[in-house]
Amino acid sequence: KTTPESVVIEKLKAQYDTIDTSKVTKFVELPISQKTIKALKESKYLKLTDIQKASIPLALKGKDILGAAQTGSGKTLAFLIPILERLYCEQWTRMDGIGALVITPTRELAYQIFETLKRVGKYQDFSAGLIIGGKDLKFERKRMDQCNIIICTPGRLLQHMDENPLFDCVSMKILVLDEADRCLDMGFKETMNGIIANLPPERQTLLFSATQTKSVQDLARLSLKDPSYVSINEMT
Ligand code: ADP
Ligand code: MG
Repeated sequence: KTTPESVVIEKLKAQYDTIDTSKVTKFVELPISQKTIKALKESKYLKLTDIQKASIPLALKGKDILGAAQTGSGKTLAFLIPILERLYCEQWTRMDGIGALVITPTRELAYQIFETLKRVGKYQDFSAGLIIGGKDLKFERKRMDQCNIIICTPGRLLQHMDENPLFDCVSMKILVLDEADRCLDMGFKETMNGIIANLPPERQTLLFSATQTKSVQDLARLSLKDPSYVSINEMT
């Protein structure tokens, strides 16, 4: 059905293939929704960091990404913007269930990502949930199926997948594995493998890691399809 919104969306999507990555410096130059642009402006995010320049255009096109970048390089927006835009373009509604999952190693990181999501997603009509253990499991359970974007730690997510009949991610579009090396260092290898085995295979996956160890490569092989490698190295 053609609506004013769907015309705007088709125009944005038509520009994905012609983004000139070498020229993009500001968020306003990207083919992203006015809702996201406005929220980025209000948070004083104007120019893209290197990892954002390298990964956002590819992620918008739907590519899987294996990203290597240090702490503080701006990875959060590198995955939150593609999530928001993907769900916007799909005209995702609160009724559509879980559309994106972000897995990060610690509660503290999950909380920070959630706070950033609330700011940059404030004009989109998506619901977001923080699933991090230490909170009431029953409360989380009832709320979870109403969330479109879930930010979680690995252990708690797998617990829901195993025990919660309301947990349903069959329609999920994007998976983000944030700080994958730390997740593995913390002993979450089996948990991560278990989570990935439970997810629909026809999804987009963005994996970020500061280091590229053997175990990160194993996880990448298991979770990514024909990934683009994005590496931002500081000159030291
Ligand atoms: P990482 O996850 O790579 O460690 P973050 O996404 O947490 O990095 O970002 C680090 C800091 O940089 C945060 O304070 C964030 O608000 C800020 N930041 C991220 N992207 C931008 C940007 N494009 N412009 C200005 N500040 C940014
Ligand atoms: Mg981070």
